[in-house]
Amino acid sequence: MAEFDYDLFVIGAGSGGVRAARVAAAYGAKVAVAEEHRVGGTCVIRGCVPKKMLVYGSHFAEDLHDAARYGWELGDIRFDWKTLRDNVNADVDRLEGLYTNTLDNNKVELFHERATVSGPNAVTLASGRTITARFILIATGAWPVVPDVPGAEHGITSNEVFYIDELPKRVVIAGAGYIANEFAGIFHALGSKVTVVNRSDQILRGYDEQIRDRLFQISTQKGIEFIFNASFEKVEKREDGSLCVHFKDHPKCDTDLLLFAIGRSPKTGGLGLEAVGVELNDKGAIVVDEDNRSSVPSIYAVGDVTDRVQLTPVAIREGQAFADTVFGEKPHRVDYGAIPSAVFSNPPMAGVGLTERQAREQFGTVKVFTSDFRPMRNVLAGRNERSLYKLVVHPETDVVLGIHMISPDAPEILQAAAIAVKAGLTKAQFDQTIALHPSMAEELVLMK
Ligand code: NDP
Repeated sequence: MAEFDYDLFVIGAGSGGVRAARVAAAYGAKVAVAEEHRVGGTCVIRGCVPKKMLVYGSHFAEDLHDAARYGWELGDIRFDWKTLRDNVNADVDRLEGLYTNTLDNNKVELFHERATVSGPNAVTLASGRTITARFILIATGAWPVVPDVPGAEHGITSNEVFYIDELPKRVVIAGAGYIANEFAGIFHALGSKVTVVNRSDQILRGYDEQIRDRLFQISTQKGIEFIFNASFEKVEKREDGSLCVHFKDHPKCDTDLLLFAIGRSPKTGGLGLEAVGVELNDKGAIVVDEDNRSSVPSIYAVGDVTDRVQLTPVAIREGQAFADTVFGEKPHRVDYGAIPSAVFSNPPMAGVGLTERQAREQFGTVKVFTSDFRPMRNVLAGRNERSLYKLVVHPETDVVLGIHMISPDAPEILQAAAIAVKAGLTKAQFDQTIALHPSMAEELVLMK
């Protein structure tokens, strides 16, 4: 009889968990996954994927407006939130099916229920059954933070925003990070009056300052309101269903929807981890070594639950590295250098490598090249929105240390440019590359 029921038991069928499960199973391991919500996790079900579809949907507002300048007569234009919402969620259902099929095809057994860790080699399902496994992988992700203020339950998070019944006339968004700026762009384009409220005096901490300043300037020009240095006091619900948000240090604000986007915490609560000796950090994240192994040798963790880099492609790489190392005899570690990321705001931002500030802290002086231009498409549309590209370059080696952009299609362009940064190419090599004309991307090789 086998020593354990399974070789691997994965808790959480999100991006990291599914990748680890299917790769381990392909190596011949007997694998099971427990998922208490839906297969696909945050990214597929209530994050990156439906968000990107809403971004596409909302962009039609400006495209249809600009179409007149391009000679199109469109007549009466109306937008129906429910059509967009339902089509997006239908596609999410389709993707959930594909993820489930991937597990089935790889003979990974799926338990649609919550699992908790009950020993170094044991998990207990909500239904009461205890299962043993040689290795346990925790891939439970992260969960939106809700502030501890009276009436906070009247607000929603990104978990619920994809299902709202009506497009709100007024939206207050708490936080000014990724989710806040993405949904500010979506709701504003769809016609809501948007107010972004942050505890500090800045948006998108950590992004290059010039680039986020440009987003702030464009967002305010569009009509998105920002309130800084504000802390919530309470939220009241009125009889008509609207909300009144009270701040400690600012006048109160009426709204129809309050969206909390103030960060996401590792989802480790109630998993039984402390009882078996898994070390958590002060944010509740599982502490792992470079091989994704926790303080208990049979228990590993990947993705947002480890709070290293909260990005889907990183969780997928971690899941792959775990499975290759533990089950595939191909040990390797994730390289966390020069990870590209994007904010799908309107316009979107994207960046890879060091920001100007980080490079100065590391090297003292740096060379900075910028291109501040109005995309041709905006010129003809009469849209006074300028793009900004920025290269941060090592003063002696000429190596491009970082690229930061705010521009239509910036994420699409940056993914290719990130290869150059990852490869350690120099500014001279960028300059040697002939421009692809006319394009926005050509600015990357034309900066003087
Ligand atoms: P972020 O970490 O991006 O931003 C959090 C925002 O909330 C900041 O403006 C921060 O203020 C503020 N904040 C933090 N804690 C509190 C608090 N206790 N009370 C009030 N305000 C607070 O979080 P998001 O929720 O937007 O996104 C979570 C993560 O998900 C991101 O970090 C990102 O990794 C990932 N994500 C990635 C996306 C992408 O790749 N396009 C899209 C969406 C999410 P400040 O820092 O100014 O003090």
